[in-house]
Amino acid sequence: MRAVVIGAGIMGAAVAHHLARAGASVQIVEAGRPSRGATGVTFSRLSAFDKEPHDYFRLNGAGMDEHARLASETPLANWYHPCGSVLLSDDECELTRRAERYQSWGYPLAWRSGTRLGPVARLPGRVLHAPAEGWVNAVTLTRHLLELASRHGAVVRPETPVIGLARGGTSWTVTTAGGRVLSADVVVNAAGQGAPAIAARAGTSLTLARSPGLLLTVAIPGETLRHIVHSPEVSLRPDGPGRVLIRSSTVDRRLDDGTDLRDLTHDLLMRAARVLPRLGHAAVVRPRIGQRVVPAGGLPSIGAVRGLPGYHEAVSHNGIVLAPLVGRLLAEEIITGRPHPGLEPFRPRGQGPAAA
Ligand SMILES: Cc1cc2nc3c(=O)[nH]c(=O)nc-3n(C[C@H](O)[C@H](O)[C@H](O)COP(=O)(O)OP(=O)(O)OC[C@H]3O[C@@H](n4cnc5c(N)ncnc54)[C@H](O)[C@@H]3O)c2cc1C
Repeated sequence: MRAVVIGAGIMGAAVAHHLARAGASVQIVEAGRPSRGATGVTFSRLSAFDKEPHDYFRLNGAGMDEHARLASETPLANWYHPCGSVLLSDDECELTRRAERYQSWGYPLAWRSGTRLGPVARLPGRVLHAPAEGWVNAVTLTRHLLELASRHGAVVRPETPVIGLARGGTSWTVTTAGGRVLSADVVVNAAGQGAPAIAARAGTSLTLARSPGLLLTVAIPGETLRHIVHSPEVSLRPDGPGRVLIRSSTVDRRLDDGTDLRDLTHDLLMRAARVLPRLGHAAVVRPRIGQRVVPAGGLPSIGAVRGLPGYHEAVSHNGIVLAPLVGRLLAEEIITGRPHPGLEPFRPRGQGPAAA
């Protein structure tokens, strides 16, 4: 089987790895450099908390298990940091209700007193721990997946934007900006923000919701944050020794309203300082803005498209949690032709001309 995977972010890398491992002849075509899309500007928390509906929670939980399995198979899995999260809320009754629902779904959560984060922190007397959570260095993991794919014979083509996609008979012709023409039995659209344009070229439709996110890397020399901290107002995670990464959904909602980036950066830092007072006068190493890959409706778009044989999508938010699992399941579907029941709720909504 000849497969062309479009996009070398974490999603494309994971699908390509599993296709190549199963014996397919794989080419990964990337418009720029690998991991420079959302995968390079992400908070990359591994979590299934607040992921609804229940099918989506289950997919994310299985995604977390897949990360643990992948890391345990690799001698130096230096991208994987299962440090656990501390979940905070101003409304403890509401958080308790939510926690009970997720516990009834089998998600490990426990109330603990006397939690220490490393740096001096302002925490309530008891906090909710999510010990199975963690974070990954998404760029390092993507590089690892691309290396694994290459070891199985896959070819990575950076600086190779796809500008044409046509189906003739039983195969696809993929045309790149440099004039290269590739033939494939299978095309996987893992192009992140570029996925709607690829879908249109294939003859289907895919819409993404706009969802920018501001990330701040902040230096806290000599200290290491022990756990991720997540609250409705702000989230913090370790970013290696002496560094913390910060984000806030509240601040993100203001990214498109014309507010000066310096004001938003200050706002984000002050929110974080309410948890870690030291951050009130910490040095911002880097502010970055990324674009989440969120299919309209919020749920992933994974798998074959009716009426377009050989064309598949791998487009999702929470792609860091999901990519290793989705990559394996989608590759199995492509190789065996058997749909995986766990992916059924997340099928692409678009359809090709032959489905009518
Ligand atoms: C601020 C922020 C916070 C986030 N937090 C989390 C989190 O805590 N946990 C989590 O799991 N997820 C999180 N995400 C989401 C996660 O980062 C993404 O879902 C994931 O990185 C998507 O990976 P991808 O490979 O699908 O897309 P990308 O990484 O964007 O890769 C797509 C690639 O396709 C290439 N491409 C596009 N068009 C073409 C073309 N025509 N030809 C060839 N190549 C093309 C692009 O250059 C790009 O490299 C966050 C995202 C953001 C922005």
